[in-house]
Amino acid sequence: MRISDLALTARDMLPTLRSITVWLTLMSAIPTASLAQAPETAVVMLGTGTPNADPERSGPAVAVVRGGRSYLVDAGPGVVRRAAAAAALHADSALQPRNLRTLFLTHLHSDHTVGLPDLILSAWTLERDVPLEVYGPPGTQAMVDHLLAAYVADIRNRIDGLEPANPTGYQVRVHEIAPGQVFDDGNVTVTAFAVPHGDWEVAFGYRFQSADRSIVISGDTRASDAVVNACDGCDLLVHEVYSAERFRTRPPAWQAYHAKAHTSTTELADVARRAAPKQLLLYHQLFWGTTDEGLIAETRAAGYKGPIRSAADLTRY
Ligand SMILES: [Zn+2]
Ligand SMILES: [Zn+2]
Repeated sequence: MRISDLALTARDMLPTLRSITVWLTLMSAIPTASLAQAPETAVVMLGTGTPNADPERSGPAVAVVRGGRSYLVDAGPGVVRRAAAAAALHADSALQPRNLRTLFLTHLHSDHTVGLPDLILSAWTLERDVPLEVYGPPGTQAMVDHLLAAYVADIRNRIDGLEPANPTGYQVRVHEIAPGQVFDDGNVTVTAFAVPHGDWEVAFGYRFQSADRSIVISGDTRASDAVVNACDGCDLLVHEVYSAERFRTRPPAWQAYHAKAHTSTTELADVARRAAPKQLLLYHQLFWGTTDEGLIAETRAAGYKGPIRSAADLTRY
């Protein structure tokens, strides 16, 4: 394309720009009541997966977005690429890699943390210039220290070499937390609660509260009153699940593990009935051959009558 073509193209676009301006003016005249259905605080599923290497489902990572800021829960494999995809799909700059600044870890199992070096280093390379704030269980500081040590040659080269990397964005401020309120920036408050996850020592679920919405994310847990109490009529309950029906086909050793570490559709029906969320959203789904519809049907058949959906990657709720 020649420069003269470019000039022509810009001129051709003027009427389009004018009609966009008219459209924006019309939009601003629409009463806010008709736009009020969409809450300001949203959840974007960056990864709904498990350790299974499903190409359609990245590792567990959930973003809560409000007021131009994003708050991530867990950093499964693929987290930065999924966040970039979500930023483009939903036209939300809060999910651009350079704006990924706050992370809450439910626990340190690898499927929830393999994306942590990605979040530390890739987002920095993509020009995040403030330290990453990480809230997590005891052991988080040691994990971060080891990751930074593992990548020391990369960090030194990017700062001291030819690359114009900033000297702050790779840094991590770790907050090792205990159950209770762990975060309040005036935009959202976050409360951590302990959940039982097999013989894993410390695992948390998180409750996000903003002016317009309450959101509870279970993390990895077997069926637990802790989730019921944290939700207690919350707007959105994001809960892990496995298929009770397909569970029977699993080898005995895996059955023993899953029964103690995770939540079946049958158990989730009881949890959700008592937690009474305005919307139940399944994630970290262990399908073992069934489908989203299959998981929903199992949960319904076990007695849960409320609103239920099974999350896919990149969807916004
Ligand atoms: Zn997991
Ligand atoms: Zn786990």
